[in-house]
Amino acid sequence: MVTISDIQQFFRGHIAINEPMAKYTSMRVGGPADYYVEPVDKKDLIEIVSYFEKNSYPYMMLGRGSNMIVSDEGIRCAALNVESSLSDVRMEGDLVIAEAGAHWSKFVDFCIQNGLAGVEMLAGIPGTVGGAVVMNAGARGGEAADYLVDVEVFRNGQFQTVKKADARFAYRRSGFEKDIVLSASFRLPQGDREELIARRREYILKRNTTQPLTLPNSGSMFKNPPGLFAAKLIEQAGLKGKRVGNAQISEKHANFIVNLGDAKAADVVTLVDLALRTVHQNTGVLLELEVKLVGFPNEIRQKVA
Ligand SMILES: Cc1cc2nc3c(=O)[nH]c(=O)nc-3n(C[C@H](O)[C@H](O)[C@H](O)COP(=O)(O)OP(=O)(O)OC[C@H]3O[C@@H](n4cnc5c(N)ncnc54)[C@H](O)[C@@H]3O)c2cc1C
Repeated sequence: MVTISDIQQFFRGHIAINEPMAKYTSMRVGGPADYYVEPVDKKDLIEIVSYFEKNSYPYMMLGRGSNMIVSDEGIRCAALNVESSLSDVRMEGDLVIAEAGAHWSKFVDFCIQNGLAGVEMLAGIPGTVGGAVVMNAGARGGEAADYLVDVEVFRNGQFQTVKKADARFAYRRSGFEKDIVLSASFRLPQGDREELIARRREYILKRNTTQPLTLPNSGSMFKNPPGLFAAKLIEQAGLKGKRVGNAQISEKHANFIVNLGDAKAADVVTLVDLALRTVHQNTGVLLELEVKLVGFPNEIRQKVA
């Protein structure tokens, strides 16, 4: 059993009990996590993780929650966030070292400012470096793994450096899903700084015009099936604008679900299920969820994930 008084004996960071996850996810839905934890540094993080492991208490890493839907019932575990403790991005020789809690936009901007190319097409992806590595986030033909050299993780109670070749990167997958990602190093080719700045602006403008960014959302709900676009399949199924409660399949981009205000996670999942079934009935294509469902009963996960 874990108790707050035990934790307070050694933990120096911020810990909250019954913290609503809607505060920490971009869709703004989700019930409470038993514990929400922000360590002050790496040592603090490892100490609390070791404490949870010693007590067989479940925990999960939470970046900016931009690829995650937490159930209305919440999660019976600790959610650990390292945005304030592991946020550094720096050069070491010809490598860019980015800590897991650094915002992905900070990393992309750092690369561009230093005239390094290869991640400018990933500008505008929200989230942290840790989240981007775990999800192998990508856009416009680029992926987080493209220029990655290695990833520092805490795995099975030990620090390990995993080389890219030993990871299992694939479309929106990494093989780091069960690890704690601490930092990642990248070696990027030189580029023209002004050109990179112009390209970043173009990519961000495109996002602003095609994505419903004024409403809470989790980005693309489904992966694109090989050679197809999930958004097009959902639109062709006539589901654009379809609403359940205060969740809606976006009128602007059919692969986005938006929260019109006080939506429930259950509404979002009902729309996910509807899109899955309708697209399957109409085309035979089985869409695969890109967002992670957290804290849902197994039968719901099996139905839609
Ligand atoms: C408006 C919008 C646009 C988006 N556009 C894109 C896009 O173009 N391309 C794309 O790929 N995605 C996109 N996304 C989805 C999302 O932003 C990415 O998947 C992002 O990389 C997730 O980062 P995060 O920090 O928010 O991760 P979270 O959502 O917090 O977590 C995602 C997963 O990573 C794990 N995780 C997070 N940090 C760590 C860590 N340090 N160690 C171990 N595990 C960790 C979590 O446990 C979870 O399983 C978009 C989302 C939104 C809201």
